[in-house]
Amino acid sequence: MDVKEMKSQPLDLLEQQNPFTIAQKQCDKCALYLELDPGIHQILRVPRREIHINIPVRMDDGSTKVFQGFRVIHNDVLGPAKGGIRFHPHETIDTVRALAAWMTWKCSLLNLPLGGGKGGVVCNPKEMSQGELERLSRGYVAQLWEFIGPEKDIPAPDVYTNPQVMAWMMDEYSKIVGRNQFGVITGKPPLIGGSLGRGDATARGGIFVLREAAGIRGMNLQGATVAVQGYGNAGYHAAQLAVELLGCKIVAISDSSGAILNARGLDPQKVHAYKAKNGSVVGYPGTQSISSDALFELDVDVLFPCALENAITEKNAPSIKASIIAEFSNGPTTPEADEILYERGVHVLPDFLCNAGGVTVSYFEMVQNYNLLYWEEEEIHARLDRKMTKAYDTVLDVSLKYQVNMRRAAYIVALKRVADAVKLRGWV
Ligand code: GLU
Repeated sequence: MDVKEMKSQPLDLLEQQNPFTIAQKQCDKCALYLELDPGIHQILRVPRREIHINIPVRMDDGSTKVFQGFRVIHNDVLGPAKGGIRFHPHETIDTVRALAAWMTWKCSLLNLPLGGGKGGVVCNPKEMSQGELERLSRGYVAQLWEFIGPEKDIPAPDVYTNPQVMAWMMDEYSKIVGRNQFGVITGKPPLIGGSLGRGDATARGGIFVLREAAGIRGMNLQGATVAVQGYGNAGYHAAQLAVELLGCKIVAISDSSGAILNARGLDPQKVHAYKAKNGSVVGYPGTQSISSDALFELDVDVLFPCALENAITEKNAPSIKASIIAEFSNGPTTPEADEILYERGVHVLPDFLCNAGGVTVSYFEMVQNYNLLYWEEEEIHARLDRKMTKAYDTVLDVSLKYQVNMRRAAYIVALKRVADAVKLRGWV
């Protein structure tokens, strides 16, 4: 189907919110804009390879449960595929496909010698014991080991996976191939090949981008109010660093159970400790309970989407009052919402720019693993700052030059590099 035919296809709501449909739509629009060679466009709108596995896991009660898993390589023209693994009860192959594509654009935009991949397992880690999670993590690698590796595809943490899961996966891979292979996975604990500064890298990178954006807009972030949607690794660290590095005031935080508000400001570390103890931010002393939807419409200066896809849609985009949206999560804004926000003058820091700090420090981790030379944390922070600032400046320049929103500008930069590499390697 060519792009013109595709544009005339009516999409029902479900399809409209399908992350892969969205990713393809974004790619198509950019391809039209760049007048991309149709062959290259066809290559870039679909994954190069996807693997579906079913992982049997011995559960603690003696029964065996089979979990569905995926690993998708969207594109590896710039280097081996890179991207996280999500453990989520609502994981779908289309979400993984979309996330793999966004990794391709993310690595390209940051000028990393890496391609895009993503993995996922349909499971609910909140209901699993550590032993069950370990067997699932090892089982995932046992079935995929031939297709991953430091020169093929390097997984990392994502939603509901963490350094411990990476440690099990690295260990399983090393056992199978018969030698220590730290470089097969990133986001490991620092004691076994992980990089310092990887834990908060996604958030820190976005905070650097926010600092640049505020500087350009002449906005004073000291005391600026922030609402944070989602309080996992990205959300917590983003809130904490927004306070520590930029002097912002966090007034609202949500998680999967609800949202809390305190106009006088919240202490991100204390809220985090409360969530660790009670399972949710809801009920944190001295706060008013609000709905998760209401959080998006608060009268704040900056909004941090830090949860899952499709949080900002054409429904709530018209009522957003923030002047900057820093997308720490992947795919939080639908294309329809994007248009509305651009028309309303909201400065959106697109996901694959704003949250690229994670994969950037993952890349630093790979470099350190290759060289057996480990850097100080300050060195990581300084290198990350340079990478993020440069990417922001490049995207802003393109956005101003072509009068397009930041997401389209980021796509133009990222897609063009990948397309040029496809041509150079003679794939078309
Ligand atoms: N899962 C993170 C992301 O979406 C990090 C990926 C990586 O470090 O490879 O960017």
